[in-house]
Amino acid sequence: MKILVTGGAGYIGSHTVAQLCADGYEVAVLDNLYTSCEESIVRLRKITGKDIPLHKADIRVQENVRKVLRDEKIEAIIHFAAYSLVGESMTNPLKYYENNLYGTKQLLEAMIEEKVNKIVFSSTAATYGEPKSIPILETDETNPTNPYGETKLSMEKMFKWTASAHGVRFVSLRYFNACGAHESGTIGEAHNPETHLIPIILQAAAGVRKSISVYGADYPTRDGTCVRDYIHVSDLAKAHVAAVKYLLDGGKSDIFNLGTETGTTVKEVIDAAEKITGKDIKVLYGGRRAGDPAVLTASNKKAREILGWKPEKTMDDIISSAWKWHSKNPYGYKK
Ligand code: UDP
Repeated sequence: MKILVTGGAGYIGSHTVAQLCADGYEVAVLDNLYTSCEESIVRLRKITGKDIPLHKADIRVQENVRKVLRDEKIEAIIHFAAYSLVGESMTNPLKYYENNLYGTKQLLEAMIEEKVNKIVFSSTAATYGEPKSIPILETDETNPTNPYGETKLSMEKMFKWTASAHGVRFVSLRYFNACGAHESGTIGEAHNPETHLIPIILQAAAGVRKSISVYGADYPTRDGTCVRDYIHVSDLAKAHVAAVKYLLDGGKSDIFNLGTETGTTVKEVIDAAEKITGKDIKVLYGGRRAGDPAVLTASNKKAREILGWKPEKTMDDIISSAWKWHSKNPYGYKK
């Protein structure tokens, strides 16, 4: 039984490949390496001891995807391949429509032609936009505030209609704040440019950057800084494997939140990082970042009940695993 992971060289994709291998699945990766690099696959082969095939291909080129599905005898797909920078999506929305939406349409057509009918999809809490109530439930209103979230929501809708017309079953996983790294410290988060809180804090701790700017300390929260639901990437990886298993066992198409139900403020994350790294982190307080809601936390009840998944890692686990990765690889996969 072989699973194709599109975007498997990227951050969450690579951790999911590691988990699939650990759970005994055969895996192939399809990635165009535009925002990731081959080195993550080289390291995955070392961690897992498996010969993970990497197909350097683009989901938009349907013949190539079809060939991979046929040659590898793929049973199900986990689909990560997409652009994912919120800020970039605001300045270049059509880039997001072209890759995320058109790419997914090409992938779905290839699946229909090659009779692959199960897909797990990497979605996001950005599909909800500004929440009306906390914690966020899967049944809450979706009203994205940026093209990134909008394309992910449209992709979910594409899956829904394709499911009813062509019998493709899907699970969409809406992640909250993905963070942390593999326990080995050899694969982890490496975005360029880096915009996420925890890598930036740890780069400041490692001396790669001078300081961290906190975007707003006047929110109506316990210490004035934003509250987010930080979920360890290894917990996310386990949820993807649980979702594949659910589809292989005949589960029906559905959408699940993936979060911890625990909110942590920006200041609390910085305090945890100072405690674990033993470094003083220089903090500058600045204005709010446009589009940041004060509080975002998930209800994960549905994933617990239907997928039998629950997050296991704490904030300390997140920081210590990410610190292991960042201190060994201060410039990501670059040598
Ligand atoms: N944040 C911050 N400084 C930074 C990056 C992020 O204060 O340099 C804050 C941001 O305002 C948000 C939280 O940290 O409240 C998490 O932001 P991130 O970009 O990591 O994820 P998001 O919640 O936007 O998906």
